[in-house]
Amino acid sequence: MSAKVETLIECSCVSVGEGPHWDGESHTLLYVDIIDGSLHRWSATTGLDEKHTFDTFCSLVVPCRKGGYLISLGKSICHFDWDTKKVIILHTVDEGLDTRINDGKCDASGRLWFGTMTMQNAQGERELYKGSLYSLEVDGTVRKHKGEITVSNGLAWSADNRTMYYIDSHPRKVFAYDFDLSSGTLSNARVAIDFDDETKQLEGFPDGMTIDVNGKLWVACFHGGKVVQLDPVTGNTITSIEVPVNRPTSCCFGGTNYDDLFITCSRYSLPEEELKQTPLAGSVFRATGLGTKGTPAPLYEGIINKASGPDCRI
Ligand code: ZN
Repeated sequence: MSAKVETLIECSCVSVGEGPHWDGESHTLLYVDIIDGSLHRWSATTGLDEKHTFDTFCSLVVPCRKGGYLISLGKSICHFDWDTKKVIILHTVDEGLDTRINDGKCDASGRLWFGTMTMQNAQGERELYKGSLYSLEVDGTVRKHKGEITVSNGLAWSADNRTMYYIDSHPRKVFAYDFDLSSGTLSNARVAIDFDDETKQLEGFPDGMTIDVNGKLWVACFHGGKVVQLDPVTGNTITSIEVPVNRPTSCCFGGTNYDDLFITCSRYSLPEEELKQTPLAGSVFRATGLGTKGTPAPLYEGIINKASGPDCRI
């Protein structure tokens, strides 16, 4: 295997690049710049990177089958129409808590899974276990699946949809659950990969992730400068891809054959010294020659009732 990492979109993110989603229909890469509140859409056809900036954190983006995108704005899941720039707030979670929505993705039945995380105070500390994991069902209702999450992050499902993988970055663990696709329920929680296990030599915090056609996880190691391919059954590292930044945040497969791995990273609050060493922080990278590939990420299959729901600002 001769993996190659190239800079695809140089320094397009000023804060935390995250949430990459390859839209095979339009040959675009969707991603967010969370703290900046920006949604990006890069076209593989034209090479242009469009962006739209909201007035609060935007941490996830998934296209809807029936048009537009699901995005998060702060603690709300919203529908966004890029053409009209109209935003419809669908649901707000974590009422009364100092949290925000973080990573999110749809399962194979088209329900959106998303979690929340606590905010850091001025000293860079955060309250533990205040976040939760939710789903937005295709009928538009929201269900809470788990509490006591600190930094809700990456999500992935096995090809048979019987296992869901989920990262809480703070305890540095990739969890596995038995998954029931039709009911959308989780059971039998266990640790698949423990970044605290010193024998594994995994650096940094597990952040966003994706899964390849062989059921191996690709996890961005925030503060680890790598994306690692992990075997969720043995917990072993199979491949390690170095990126030219310390804080990769997430990755997704895409491109014509789904064998390109798009990698986002953070430029947010980088110390001067780190910025000097990693001037490409905030870029989107593309890794090729990985010897594997992914599959199209599911879309949201629900109906957005455009008549109801309060409009947010445009
Ligand atoms: Zn993340």
